[in-house]
Amino acid sequence: MRVFKFGGASLKSPEGIRNVVSIVLAAPKQLLVVVSAMGKTTDMLERICHLAATKQDYSGTLESLVKYHTDTVVSLFPDPNEVIQEISRSIDKMVGELGKAGDTDQIYDQVVCYGEILSSIIVFHYLKSRHAATEWIDARDYVATDSTFREGKVDWKKTSSKIATLRAKMESNVIITQGFIGRTPGGLTTTLGREGSDYTAAIFTSSLGAESLTIWKDVAGVMNADPRKYPNPIIFEELPYKEAAEMTYYGASVIHPKTIKPLANKLIPLFVKNFEDPSLPGTKIHECVVERLPPLIVWKENQCLISCKVTDYTFISEDQLREIFATLMDLDIRINVMQNSAISFSFCIDFRESKLTRLIARLQPSFEVYYNMGLTLITVKNYDTQTFEKFRKLPGVLLEQSSRSTLQVLVRKS
Ligand code: ADP
Ligand code: ASP
Ligand code: MG
Repeated sequence: MRVFKFGGASLKSPEGIRNVVSIVLAAPKQLLVVVSAMGKTTDMLERICHLAATKQDYSGTLESLVKYHTDTVVSLFPDPNEVIQEISRSIDKMVGELGKAGDTDQIYDQVVCYGEILSSIIVFHYLKSRHAATEWIDARDYVATDSTFREGKVDWKKTSSKIATLRAKMESNVIITQGFIGRTPGGLTTTLGREGSDYTAAIFTSSLGAESLTIWKDVAGVMNADPRKYPNPIIFEELPYKEAAEMTYYGASVIHPKTIKPLANKLIPLFVKNFEDPSLPGTKIHECVVERLPPLIVWKENQCLISCKVTDYTFISEDQLREIFATLMDLDIRINVMQNSAISFSFCIDFRESKLTRLIARLQPSFEVYYNMGLTLITVKNYDTQTFEKFRKLPGVLLEQSSRSTLQVLVRKS
C-alpha cells in the first residue's frame, strides 16, 4: 500500500495530467493518490476571494478559471460533456459560497477548496477513461479538523480512524483524493495552510500505515539549496528525517513543514521524485546517517520584521517580553527569528496582512512599533567559511544572527 502526491506543477496542463496518469498506471496496485489544484489555481481563487470581499468585480478572474479547467477537459476527453457538466456544478457551488455572509477566513476556505475538488474530478475521470479501477473520495470526509480557518488543526484520532476504513476500498481501486482540505465538526470546509497538500499526503500515509509516500515534484530530488536560486546544488540521494524537517522549518518550499513528523513517527520513508523523469532516483528521506552534509541554504520570502521599542526610558523586561509572546500566541503567529537590545525587541514573522494589522493594534498601546515588509530570511545550516562570508555580506542585511552551525540573515529584496 502506497501513497502518491502530485502538486500543482505536475497537473498544470493536459500533457501534465496525461503524464501523472501514466505514472499512476505504472505503479504497483493498492495506491492512494492525493492531488493539489492545477497550476496556480489556488492563487486565482485567493484573488477571487479578495475581490469579492472588497466588493470588486471578480468576473474576469472567474472566467479565466473556468476557461483554464474547461480547456483542459476538452483536450483530455474525446467526449468532454459529462466532465464539463460536473466541473460547472462545482464552480456554481463555489460561486454560491462567495455570496454568503460571514468571516473572511471562513469564506476563503469554502471557496479556495474548489481548486483541489476540480483537479481531482479531472484526474479521476481521466484515469477511469484509461480503464483503471478507480474511486474518487472527498478528503473532507476523512480529514477532521478544528475550526481554525486557513490553518485547520487536524484531529488525528478521528482522522486516523476514518482513513483506516479506506484500506478495504484500496484492495480493488486506485483512490483519488484532494490535498489541502478538511472539515470542521460543524461541517464547514477548512484548509490546512498554503502548500498543505504534502501534509495531507502524510496524514493519509501515516493513518493507512502505508509502506511509503512519494511526492512528485518538478525537481530531481531534495537539494542543498533551491535550484531556482543557487547554481549547481547537490541532490541528496538520502536525507535523515531530522535534516529534512529542519530545512522545511526554515522555509525550504520543496516539502510542507508539517509533512515529515507523521512519517518519521512511524518510520515510513518519504520519496521525492521527479515527475518529468520518473527513472531518476530522487531522494529518500528516512532514518539514516549522512556524513559531512554540505551547507543547506534556505530562502523564506515574504517576511516582515517588527520592532517593539519601549516608550518610557526603561529597558526591555521579561514582563514586556511576556506581553509580546502572549499576543503572538493569541493570534497564532510564529516567530521565525528574533533579537533583543536594551530598548527594543525585534522579531520576524511570515507576512499576512490581516494578522499583521491585528498584531500591531494589540502591541501599540505598550510599545512604539516599527515594521518592514517584503523581506527574505536566508538560513544557512552547516555553513562553511565561504557561505558564511558570502551571505553575511549580501546587500540590504537588516538583521544577522549566527550560532555554531547556523547563520540567518534577513535581507531587503534587491
Ligand atoms: P508542488 O508542485 O508540489 O506545489 P512546489 O513548487 O511547491 O511543488 O515545490 C517544488 C519547488 O521547490 C521546486 O521547483 C524548487 O524550486 C523548490 N525548492 C526549494 N527548495 C528546494 C530544495 N532544497 N530542493 C529542491 N527544490 C527546492
Ligand atoms: N493548492 C494549495 C496551494 O496552492 C495546496 C498545495 O498546492 O499544496 O497552496
Ligand atoms: Mg506547491
